[in-house]
Amino acid sequence: MFEHCIALLKERGVNIQDINDCVMYLQKDHETGVTNDEVSETVNSIIQKREVQHAIMTGIALDKAAEQHILDDKILEDIINRDESLYGIDEVMAYGICNLYGSIALTNFGFIDKDKFGIIKELNDHKDNPNICHTFLDDIVGAIAASAASRIAHNQREVVGSKDAK
Ligand code: MG
Repeated sequence: MFEHCIALLKERGVNIQDINDCVMYLQKDHETGVTNDEVSETVNSIIQKREVQHAIMTGIALDKAAEQHILDDKILEDIINRDESLYGIDEVMAYGICNLYGSIALTNFGFIDKDKFGIIKELNDHKDNPNICHTFLDDIVGAIAASAASRIAHNQREVVGSKDAK
C-alpha cells in the first residue's frame, strides 16, 4: 500500500522531495541540522502509517471524483471543486494525520496551511489547469510535512535529553 500511495501522490504531482522542502521550511527558525536524507526518511515513515495511507487514498479519490464530475451528490461535488472555504472536511482529514504526531504537528499544520509554501501553494493555486481539484490533497501534503517536522523535533529532543543525562 505504501508504493500505491507514493504512486498516487506522484500521479497528482507530488514527490517526496516536494514534501521534504515543506518540512525544511517549517524548521527554518530552528537549527535542527537535519539532512535532506533524514527528512526523506521521516517523510517516508509517516507515509508508512496505515492511517496516513487511508487519508491519502480517500482524499485523492474525492479530489479525482470531483474533477471528473462523477460524484452522485452534485451539491457536494460543487463544494469540493470550488474548495469552498467553509467546507473544512479537508482540514479535518488533515487533523486526523496530525493527531497521530501530537500537538506540535497540529501547530505546524496551522502554520503551513496559512503560509501555503511550495508544493502546497502550487496545489492550491493550480493555475496551469483550472479544471483540476486538489481540495483534499493540499491539506494532506501539509499534514504529512507538519507531522514529519513534529517527529524530527521530538527525536531531536530525545537526543539532547540523553546527552543532558550523561
Ligand atoms: Mg484544502
